[in-house]
Amino acid sequence: MADETIFSKIIRGEIPATILFQDERITAFADSHPQTPTHVLIVTNKLIPTVNDVTLEDEADLGHMFVVAARIAREQGIAEDGYRLIINCGRDGGQEVYHLHMHLLGGRRLGPMLMRKD
Ligand code: AMP
Repeated sequence: MADETIFSKIIRGEIPATILFQDERITAFADSHPQTPTHVLIVTNKLIPTVNDVTLEDEADLGHMFVVAARIAREQGIAEDGYRLIINCGRDGGQEVYHLHMHLLGGRRLGPMLMRKD
């Protein structure tokens, strides 16, 4: 069993967070250090450390992440203008918290996906 992170405590309501959605599969809450006007983390309730640890039995949870992301984007009023969904994986992917999560970023023009080299 992988080590728990702070996200498990947020899911269980043991530490404070601004929860925007929760059901038996997924919890979504505001990022504590928002990079954009809307910055929400959509987290599997099950502790899956990274995308590398995903199995077939996680398909329903992962599909549900997108349904929840679209719902929150509508609720936040950013669906029409657009937004970005990001899942970081591992060291080179810049992952800091090893509990699988999707970032929902929007509320301003985000520009190109990665810094251009030239
Ligand atoms: P990642 O780099 O993809 O692992 O993203 C981790 C994200 O979790 C960062 O954007 C952090 O700001 C966010 N974060 C860390 N601790 C908390 C917390 N207690 N509540 C809300 N967001 C958090």
